[in-house]
Amino acid sequence: VEAEKKSGAPPFEVPEVRFTKLFINGCFVDAVSVSSPPGRTFQTRDPRSGDVIASVAEGDREDVDLAVKAARDAFDHGEWPRMSGSERGRIMTRFAELVERHADELAALESLDGGKLPAVTKAVDIGNAAGSLRYFAGAADKIHGETLKMRGQFQGCTLREPLGVAGLIIPWNFPTTMFTIKVAPALAAGCTVVVKPAEQTPLSALFLADLAKQAGIPDGVINVVPGFGPTAGAAIASHMDVDTVSFTGSTEVGRLIMEASARSNLKPVSLELGGKSPLIIFDDADLDMAVELAISANFFNKGEACVAASRVYVQESVYDRFEKKLAERMRSWVVGDPLNDPRADQGPQVDKAQYERVLSYIEHGKREGATLLTGGRPCGQKGYYIQPAVFTNVKEDMVIAKEEIFGPVMCLMKFKTVEEAIARANATRYGLGAGVVTRDMEVASRVVRSVRAGLVWVNCYFALSNDCPFGGRGMSGFGGDEGMQALDKYLAVKCVVAPLRGSPW
Ligand code: ADP
Repeated sequence: VEAEKKSGAPPFEVPEVRFTKLFINGCFVDAVSVSSPPGRTFQTRDPRSGDVIASVAEGDREDVDLAVKAARDAFDHGEWPRMSGSERGRIMTRFAELVERHADELAALESLDGGKLPAVTKAVDIGNAAGSLRYFAGAADKIHGETLKMRGQFQGCTLREPLGVAGLIIPWNFPTTMFTIKVAPALAAGCTVVVKPAEQTPLSALFLADLAKQAGIPDGVINVVPGFGPTAGAAIASHMDVDTVSFTGSTEVGRLIMEASARSNLKPVSLELGGKSPLIIFDDADLDMAVELAISANFFNKGEACVAASRVYVQESVYDRFEKKLAERMRSWVVGDPLNDPRADQGPQVDKAQYERVLSYIEHGKREGATLLTGGRPCGQKGYYIQPAVFTNVKEDMVIAKEEIFGPVMCLMKFKTVEEAIARANATRYGLGAGVVTRDMEVASRVVRSVRAGLVWVNCYFALSNDCPFGGRGMSGFGGDEGMQALDKYLAVKCVVAPLRGSPW
């Protein structure tokens, strides 16, 4: 990506928006919801300017009902759960190929709708999306149970069956990746799905729905209902005919999803929620590398990442040098138009609400007595651009050190010993990511084993792959995505027992 940026690669073209309706049973349709005027729409905006990109059909409860009905019919009577795993895998591979073929267009669409850097999005998000479809395509014909040697004159086996209709509620920070890392294992398992993209970024999900149709995924297997959380999202979470929900988003909404499940049909839910992940830098680390890691761990995707390492702990003896190098490096950091400025390291925050929220956290940090080492101000003539903020003199009990900000705000803190670093890293209710930077593998290993997190990176950060389980503990949720374990979220185990004599086996 860096090479592409330096070579002065041509700017990505602003794409034409082709799909703005709900995708139900293989057709793009208007919203019907009776609770709002039929044909109702909402506007999605370009965070570079705040201008409207397109009006998108706004799904509500009745639209969700139609989408769930289509998914239910496709599951109960359609070919998808009944075809062989290898055939499902073949179709999913075609879907992956189409995603790759449209990588430029998808990346540009994500930039337009979400303010992301297109070159990075193409390499990281779209690469991961196609990778996820391929990974689970390969798993689709390897789903099987076990035979059980039972006591007495019986024999048993387990079947792993698709759970049914999966409701997939996704956020706005990595829309294409989030769509595919949830859709791919669900499809491989033989489930059918209803996806609700975030209201800030509905466009890529609709684009992907069209590609899925082109790939030959039967009508009703994938349905996409753009709309708002408390209406369309809540309708999915509380639906009696949705068999499981996989959600990625805030901890606050994660609670609502679980409550909705408990109040409706007790559908299993999986939640990938917020974080306040620590990055621990020891005094023997290569400090230049550590600075680069701290920057990307905080400012990648403008800090809009649930695993962002927003608490950076630096060992006291190298703290001053680290701080100086970091401040120096941030001078060449470019905040700019992701679609027109090839030098840009960071685009605008996703929308006005998020922009204002991040700025208010920065103000709060100043009021709490933390010091701004760099950035922390809005920038640009228009749009939602923020100079990335690095706070020093941060105390553990400050709001900026405790709450997830979900923007380009780094908190720098000092520590003395390994024990202290581990204790402070764990002094949070979240438990998503963690990073350790050291040349001493014994120290690294102590941190790796002691830190409460779902993902730990040693001398790297954000390195991910489709076979890495991605999820957290505590208030970061449970039942993550990616890796073979994600398949289990969409499968139910059925135990079958028969007498040995007269056994069907
Ligand atoms: P963020 O705070 O990052 O915007 P949210 O958790 O609010 O994250 O949103 C993530 C996803 O959850 C979005 O698709 C959003 O529309 C949806 N959502 C928000 N509120 C609810 C709700 N009450 N029930 C179901 N889904 C919701």
